[in-house]
Amino acid sequence: MTDINALAAEYLRLSYHGMQAKDNAFNVQSKSYFDPNLPKIKVIPQDIGRVFLNIINNAFQACVNYKPEVGEGDNGKPEDIYLPTVTVKTSLVKSAAGGLLAQVAIADNGPGIPESIKDKIFQPFFTTKPTGQGTGLGLSLSYDIIKAHGGEISVDSTVGKGTVFTLSLPVV
Ligand code: ADP
Ligand code: MG
Repeated sequence: MTDINALAAEYLRLSYHGMQAKDNAFNVQSKSYFDPNLPKIKVIPQDIGRVFLNIINNAFQACVNYKPEVGEGDNGKPEDIYLPTVTVKTSLVKSAAGGLLAQVAIADNGPGIPESIKDKIFQPFFTTKPTGQGTGLGLSLSYDIIKAHGGEISVDSTVGKGTVFTLSLPVV
């Protein structure tokens, strides 16, 4: 049985420090809200950890490389300084079928995902990153891992505001 809060916290820390070391991105912020009522669940921790890492890394990369125009971005006001932020939040929710789901939402205030590519991001080898910087396999692999656990992965994104990936895993 795996403590999803602890696993998510571990990979958020790993990704955050990796980001700072690799891209010298020190003006980055990470936030987390862990639901204390989340029960331990049966998963393959290495696999779910890999999913957390893929999605959290994407989130940091997206907002660290984002340079919003004045008046754009989540702050909107010209006098505000853009602060790239990744937020990880867990919660215990009821599924439509009546069961319980452990949800992990990974949000960033980066550029968002344009409508035109939203249906492509889970395809293997799809990437918008420069050659050598992205394999385009992270989300495809994450999708397969979540499906293998009987879970769901969804994305909600607004251009100029940011992106939220939500992972739902059955509590059994
Ligand atoms: P890679 O990171 O190697 O490009 P992924 O499968 O992880 O491959 O992601 C595929 C594409 O989805 C990215 O290249 C990017 O265009 C888009 N994407 C993923 N996460 C985000 C995000 N948080 N914000 C904006 N775009 C994203
Ligand atoms: Mg990736």
